[in-house]
Amino acid sequence: MAEQRGKLIVVSGPSGAGKSTVIAGLMRRRAGLCFSVSATTRPPRPGETEGRDYFFVTREEFQQLVNDGALLEHAEYVGNCYGTPRDYVERKQTEGLNVLLDIEVQGARQVRARVPEAVMVFVIPPSLEELERRLRGRHTDAEEKIRSRLARARAEYREADFYDYIVINDDPETAAEELDAIITAELCRYQERKTYLTEVQEL
Ligand code: ADP
Ligand code: 5GP
Repeated sequence: MAEQRGKLIVVSGPSGAGKSTVIAGLMRRRAGLCFSVSATTRPPRPGETEGRDYFFVTREEFQQLVNDGALLEHAEYVGNCYGTPRDYVERKQTEGLNVLLDIEVQGARQVRARVPEAVMVFVIPPSLEELERRLRGRHTDAEEKIRSRLARARAEYREADFYDYIVINDDPETAAEELDAIITAELCRYQERKTYLTEVQEL
């Protein structure tokens, strides 16, 4: 059969919900996936690496990417800009790889409009109290940023009605397993596999 174009899998959810943790768990258990590294104007956190976690850029560089049409989507989040490089996503999908995007809700809405067949998953913690514990436990944000991220989480919950799936990240392994199952189900859709039926008819 001809090589299938890879799927676009959007993972969103409040900051601190555990998206990075769950995506890392998923990538350990499933082949044929790649992660789209975003551009951001946010400064690197300790331990973050250029090109692996983000492409760290200035506001001017980010604006240039926007002007050049180089971003599939972009949004501002708690005072910083974030965006998905269009070329990388296109290249990997063409190679047949499923591409994971870890992006917030405004950007996800842009992807939904531009790529209606994208699979949209919203990852949430078991409660907002647990979210606050995780944000504090991560030790990466000042108090004011933690407050902004919690306020933003409440707003995102209200705007999340266009997602296809919700994964509750109580236990990270179970959450990765659920995300894995979602991808498996999406790859088994009739639309994905109907060419197998025509191949049989042609025999
Ligand atoms: P996000 O990418 O959504 O911002 P992270 O993956 O950075 O979130 O997780 C935020 C913090 O919560 C990290 O310190 C991470 O180790 C922790 N964490 C992630 N998943 C769980 C979980 N299921 N239970 C407890 N802690 C978790
Ligand atoms: P953080 O600063 O915690 O790494 O990310 C903050 C938020 O920005 C998270 O919700 C994350 O999903 C989102 N984000 C990361 N990259 C992108 C991107 O390229 N586009 C959009 N729209 N959001 C992004």
